Amino acid sequence: MHTAERTAADWFTEAQRSYAEKHQGCPWCNGQHRVHRVVQGAKIKFVCQRCDFQVYFDAQTKRYQFIRGEPLSEVSETMLGYPIYQDAPSN
Ligand SMILES: [Zn+2]
Repeated sequence: MHTAERTAADWFTEAQRSYAEKHQGCPWCNGQHRVHRVVQGAKIKFVCQRCDFQVYFDAQTKRYQFIRGEPLSEVSETMLGYPIYQDAPSN
């Protein structure tokens, strides 16, 4: 459920909750054990290793910002970028 209407602040709240309740879960791709919480000075950042979703809050400027994650397909990550019709017999 990727609602485009969510604001960066909403995403941050979601990220915090997923991180705590879903064992480092990602609110974007909904997976677990993939989000890193990074503190950089006044910034608190949640970064997903899997879909590249990022959201952060800067306590100094009181601003939220987020970067959309990549849509994940059923295909394994290493297959991304290859044509999916490549399964024709090779001989
Ligand atoms: Zn993710």
